[in-house]
Amino acid sequence: MIPADHPRYTSLIAREKISRFAGEGIVTLEGLAAHGRGEAFDYLLGEKTIKSAFLAEETAAAMLLAARSPVISVNGNTAALCADLIHELQEASGAAVEVNLFHRTEERVEKISTLLRDNGVVVLSGKAERLLPLSHDRALCLKNGMFAADVILVPLEDGDRCSALVSMGKKVIAIDLNPLSRTARTATLTVVDEVTRAIPNISRFCRSLDRERTETLIRSCDNTIFLKDAIDEISGRLTHALD
Ligand code: ATP
Repeated sequence: MIPADHPRYTSLIAREKISRFAGEGIVTLEGLAAHGRGEAFDYLLGEKTIKSAFLAEETAAAMLLAARSPVISVNGNTAALCADLIHELQEASGAAVEVNLFHRTEERVEKISTLLRDNGVVVLSGKAERLLPLSHDRALCLKNGMFAADVILVPLEDGDRCSALVSMGKKVIAIDLNPLSRTARTATLTVVDEVTRAIPNISRFCRSLDRERTETLIRSCDNTIFLKDAIDEISGRLTHALD
């Protein structure tokens, strides 16, 4: 039992969740390592949503709302940390949800789909085909899902798949605490924020944006500015850490 007044309560709850889902085969051991990298960057960012990330989250909402065929790609870590929040975002944005895994087995796809459905998410189903320009099973996706999508939200993606999707002409929104990752630098838009903070913010913006603001946000989106701001935040915090 983690006491609610523990200074690292949120982080410990996330660890507890992610290790429990690792025990159920939803999160992989590699996923645990990826979570640790995320935690380290969150520490450096002050474990809060920085100002530019709020703007990135508003821009992400605008891109999802303006899309012809938006898809949210969900992996094991995302499902473990925020299945309920994905449901809320699907309702707010109208996006389809597809399970897409780096370490893919049909059993894991099924377990993650069940967890999402238990939380109210409508999950795309069908036979995945090798449609992305990547080797091995990472190329697998649904023809009527990610393959047909114009905008894809990829929380916690790896750099290769993000770059493959961009090379196919898709707009990719990444959620990644590491502003230096290949994903962060390749995506059309990167939200440098923790996924359980980012997704509810994007949902809220989906419910409140009007058409004019949506168009302005999309027109003025510059990913480099978002990444530079996150790096400045980290370096500022490091420079003044012991003041
Ligand atoms: P790339 O291939 O893009 O350079 P990578 O090899 O670090 O990145 P992965 O190992 O797939 O990619 O790691 C996933 C990314 O997700 C990491 O950059 C990590 O910072 C980030 N991450 C992990 N947990 C969270 C979280 N809870 N919220 C947001 N980002 C997270």
